[in-house]
Amino acid sequence: MRRVEKSEEAFQKAFSVISGGVNSPVRAFSSVKGTPPFIERGEGGYIFDIDGNRYIDYVQSWGPLIFGHRNSTIESSVIDAVKRGLSFGAPTLVETQLAELIVDIFEPIEKVRFVSSGTEATMSAIRLARGYTHRDDFIKFEGCYHGHSDSLLVKGGSGMATFGSPSSPGVPADLTKHTLVAEYNSIESVERCFKESRDGVACIIVEPIAGNMGLVPADDKFLIELRELCNENGTLLIFDEVMSGFRASLSGSQELTSVRADIITLGKVIGGGMPVGAFGASREIMSHLSPEGEIYQAGTLSGNPIAMSAGVATVEQLLKDRDIYRDLEVKAKRLMRGFRDGAEEAGIDMVTDVRGSMFGFFFSKDRVKSFKDASNSDTELFAKFHSNMLDRGIYLACSAYETGFISTATTDEMIDETIRASKDSFYELSKS
Ligand SMILES: *Cc1c(COP(=O)(O)O)cnc(C)c1O
Repeated sequence: MRRVEKSEEAFQKAFSVISGGVNSPVRAFSSVKGTPPFIERGEGGYIFDIDGNRYIDYVQSWGPLIFGHRNSTIESSVIDAVKRGLSFGAPTLVETQLAELIVDIFEPIEKVRFVSSGTEATMSAIRLARGYTHRDDFIKFEGCYHGHSDSLLVKGGSGMATFGSPSSPGVPADLTKHTLVAEYNSIESVERCFKESRDGVACIIVEPIAGNMGLVPADDKFLIELRELCNENGTLLIFDEVMSGFRASLSGSQELTSVRADIITLGKVIGGGMPVGAFGASREIMSHLSPEGEIYQAGTLSGNPIAMSAGVATVEQLLKDRDIYRDLEVKAKRLMRGFRDGAEEAGIDMVTDVRGSMFGFFFSKDRVKSFKDASNSDTELFAKFHSNMLDRGIYLACSAYETGFISTATTDEMIDETIRASKDSFYELSKS
C-alpha cells in the first residue's frame, strides 16, 4: 500500500504558510481530491516522494523534462554554469547560442527574445502584435491556455457573445474587453469575432496542438483557414508552442502542418527544467521591440546563464539524435493503445490521441475537438482513475484537462507496467 503520512503532514505545514499549500494551483490535486505527494527526488523516468513511494512520472514537471530527471549532460552543463556565477544582467555567449539553435529550427523565427516563463512569452508576444498592428483586439480560443496574464484570463461569454469576460476575480473587465473568444476548431466562430471587432484584430493566439484542455490537436484545415483569415485582415498569427515546441516534434507543429505563424512562443523544454520562455518572429517584426523599436519588454533575469545553459544542453541533445521523436511517439502510442484496450475490455468509453511525446485520453465516447467536448467527458471517472493509478505507482497529471508526456527515460518496461496498472484500474472502476 502507498504510504502518505509524511506528504499529508507536509501539505498541512505548507498550507499554513503558502497559499493553498502550493505555488501553482493545479499541484494541489483539488480536481482529483487527494493530497499531492511531496517529491524528494527524480531519477530518469521515476520520481520518489518523501514517504518513500516510487512513481513512473508522466508529468515531467508539466512538460520541460523531455530527457527525464537528472539527464547527465544537462546536469553537468548547469553545474559548470553555476560555477561561473548565477546571473549578471549583462550579455553572455550562451544566450546567442540558444537563440541560434531556435532560429535554425523554427522557420518563422529570425530573431528571438528570452524571458523567464511561458506567461511572459505570450504576454509579450501579444504586446508586440498589438504594437506592430496598432490594434487592440485579439482572438483567443476557449480551452487554450496561454499563462496567467490579465488579458488572457478570459472565458467565453454566454451563448454567442464573442467578447470574453474575466475568468478570475482581480482581472478588470476593462482589461479583457479587447479579448475575443472563439471556439477551437470552429472557423465560423473566428469569422464572427472578426465581424464583431470594430477596430480590427491585432492577432490570433492559438495552441496549434492544444495541450491545456487535454490533448486536442487542431485540424489542419482549421489552421489553414486561420492563416487565410489573418492574411486577409492584416492580423498576425501567434502559435503558442510553449508546450508543443520540442514536444510534438523538434519544431512543434511545424513538422505536422504547412501553416506558419508570424510569432511563435516557446517555453518548457527550451529551459530543460529551468525557468525559460521565449518569443520570436521575423527580423522585421522583432525590430519593433525596445531598444531597436518602441515596444517595451524587459526582464532582470531574462536570458539567465544557468537557464540558457540548461536550454542549450537540451536542444543540442535533441538535435543529435533524429530518431528521438519517432521513438517517443512509438512509446506514447503503445501506452495509449494499452489504455484503450483495457478500457474497452472493462466496458469504459475512452478516446486517445498522441503527438510525438505528448499523449492524452478522455473518458468520452466521441472524439474531442473543442473545450465543450472536453468538458463533456467524464471527469469524475478520471479522478477515480487518477487516484487508482497513483496508488499503483503511476504519476499522471492530476486533472482531466492536462496532457501526459513520455521522456527518453521512459522505458518499455515502464510502459508495460503502466498498461498493467491501467488494466487493473479499469477493472476495479467497472466493478464500482
Ligand atoms: C505552460 C503554458 C504556458 C504558460 O507557461 P508558464 O511557464 O507556466 O508561465 C503558456 N502557454 C502554453 C501553451 C502552455 O502550455
